[in-house]
Amino acid sequence: MQKKLIIAIDGHSSCGKSTVAKDLAKELGYVYIDTGAMYRSVTLFAMRNGFIADGTIDEKQLSAHLNAIKITFKYQPEEKKNETFLNGESVEDAIRGLEVSQNVSAVSALGFVRRRLVELQQEMGIEGGIVMDGRDIGTVVFPKAELKLFMTASPEIRAQRRYDELIAKGEPVNFQEILENVKYRDHQDSTRKESPLMQADDAVVLDNSHLNKEEQLLWIMKKMDERGLSKQ
Ligand code: C5P
Repeated sequence: MQKKLIIAIDGHSSCGKSTVAKDLAKELGYVYIDTGAMYRSVTLFAMRNGFIADGTIDEKQLSAHLNAIKITFKYQPEEKKNETFLNGESVEDAIRGLEVSQNVSAVSALGFVRRRLVELQQEMGIEGGIVMDGRDIGTVVFPKAELKLFMTASPEIRAQRRYDELIAKGEPVNFQEILENVKYRDHQDSTRKESPLMQADDAVVLDNSHLNKEEQLLWIMKKMDERGLSKQ
């Protein structure tokens, strides 16, 4: 039987990690896990329950209610997309809005939130056959992953992609505001004390500033071939 691998994809905000991860999971017949959606769901939960006011988090309340948060994913074949559920409710659109994006870095910097989500992520991947994307997958969640990718692209290109995505959804957004959010999250994610965004020593760097969807998938499949992973 083929060995079911763990593939870890880390990198900066909005550089297309989830697109690559989804395509790769489909190609390999693996499960895709979006850990950013998990941090976003916890943030939405905190906002809705009044645990975040003007960017300040009531850590005591959030910590006391953390176990009441259930996050699940479901693949929706008609729409060909993964949907995130928070306590049984689909929050796929709600977690992608700017307000959640503005608060998620602060929530994901909390040690107790990270410990809980990392534990859940490790459980989800215990049997392999997964492509998981995030910021600390190759360094903390699965340091022994068979393949680690570290993705990046220029902040302007990433902000443009995010802008196009939100405009297509009909959200009234401003490019400059998005660019600032991308840069702010890069800074927060890389300088936080708890599991900062870091490239694992054995990660392969993929700069997709000038690659399209198909080109990046081919690029990864070639890397897997070179490492003898596609035959396992
Ligand atoms: O990947 P996405 O941009 O949706 O992630 C949202 C936020 O969640 C990131 O800006 C980061 O602060 C946090 N995150 C994290 N660790 C992960 C995944 C996401 O800290 N593994």
